[in-house]
Amino acid sequence: MKWKITLSDLDIGIEEETAIIRVLRSKWLTMGSETALFEEEFARKVGARHAIAVNNCTAALHLALLAAGVKPGDEVILPALTFVATANAVLYCGATPVFADVTSTDDLTVNPTDIARKITPRTKVILPVHYAGYAADMTAIKELAARHNLFVIEDAAHAPGASWEGNPVGSIGDVTCFSFFSNKNLATGEGGMLTTDDDNIASQLRLSRSHGMTTVTYDRHTGHAFSYDVVMTGYNYRITEIQAAMGRAQLAKLDRNNAKRRSLTQAYRERLKSYPGLEVPFTNREHESSCHILPILLPVDVDRSAVQSVFKAEGIQTSVHYTPIHHFSMYRDRYPAHVPLVDALAHRLLTLPLHPLMHVSDVDSVSRVLLSVLPKDTINNY
Ligand SMILES: *Cc1c(COP(=O)(O)O)cnc(C)c1O
Repeated sequence: MKWKITLSDLDIGIEEETAIIRVLRSKWLTMGSETALFEEEFARKVGARHAIAVNNCTAALHLALLAAGVKPGDEVILPALTFVATANAVLYCGATPVFADVTSTDDLTVNPTDIARKITPRTKVILPVHYAGYAADMTAIKELAARHNLFVIEDAAHAPGASWEGNPVGSIGDVTCFSFFSNKNLATGEGGMLTTDDDNIASQLRLSRSHGMTTVTYDRHTGHAFSYDVVMTGYNYRITEIQAAMGRAQLAKLDRNNAKRRSLTQAYRERLKSYPGLEVPFTNREHESSCHILPILLPVDVDRSAVQSVFKAEGIQTSVHYTPIHHFSMYRDRYPAHVPLVDALAHRLLTLPLHPLMHVSDVDSVSRVLLSVLPKDTINNY
C-alpha cells in the first residue's frame, strides 16, 4: 500500500547518517561515549539529575518497577487506555495491574479520582501514561502518592519535550520512562531512557541494565577498571552506540519537530471543532504537549471501520490508540477493569495522521475526507 498521507513519518537526514558513520568508524558499538553523551544531553533536556539509556521503553518500565521494589502480590495502578507494554511490564514483576479510567472525553489521561478509589494496602506504584503527549495530572498524582507513600513511575513514551505546569516531563515523578521506537517523536529504531533525580535509584538502574555488573566493558577497555563484581540479578537491556548516536541527532531536532506537531494539531482542531458530536480531545493544551499523535472521538453512532475504509481508499493511513488493555483476551478474564468511561469511548477513538513532515494542506485533505464521510443530517439534529 502506497499511502498519500502516512500516519507517521521520520525526520532523518544527514545528521543521523553522519552520527552513525562516526560510530561505525570508531568500532565501539555498545555503551561507550555516545551513550554517555546521549544520557547527559537527555538529562539536561528534561531537567533530571540522571538519565539511563536502555534498549526500549518496555525494558525501562520493567527496571523502574523493580527499582520501586514491585514484587508478586503488589498492585500497580495504570490507565486502561495505553499500549499493552505498560501493563506487561507489571506482569514481568509478578504484580497485578489495576486499571483506572480516563478523566473525561476531553482529557484522555488517567483520572486521579479513580486512582484514589483503587488504592489498597497492596498498592505500590502509580503508573500514569502521558497519552498522546499530554501529561497526566501530575499535581494530583504526586499528592496521592505522598499521602499513601507510593512510588510514581511515568510512562512518557509519547512525551519527550512535554511538560506539566511548566515542569518538563522527566523531572516530575520518581522515575520516568521514554521510548525511542521507530514511530515515536525521537526515533532510533529501538531504544529507551529512564530519568530520575534519585542517586540510589539511578545506580540500581545502571546495574540492572547490564547484568548487575559493577563495571562495564568500556571502563575496562579504557583502563578505568580491571574486573567486576555481580551484585544483583541484572538483565541485558543495554542500548547500542549506533542508537545513542542517532538519538543525539534526533534530540537536537526534537524542539523544532514538536513545534511543527503543535501547529498541525492546532490546524486540525480549527478544522474539526464545529462538527456536532466529533471531539478533538485536549482542548488548548498543545503548548505543554509533545503532540505525539492526534486521537479524535467520532460521533457516538458513527461506524469507525467504515470511516477507516474511506480514508484508506483516499490513501490516508489511520489507526486506533488504543484497544483498551482489559479488552484483550490475555487480560480480559484475569484482570477485569471497572472503567466505564474508557469502555464507553473506546469504539469512538480514531487516530489521524500527524508527523513533522506533514503540511497544513495535508491537514486540510484529512479533515475534508473526515467531514465528508460523517453523516450530513447530524448537523440538523443539533
Ligand atoms: C511505544 C510505547 C511503549 C513501549 O515502548 P518500546 O520502546 O517499544 O518498548 C510503552 N508505552 C507506550 C504508551 C508506548 O506508546
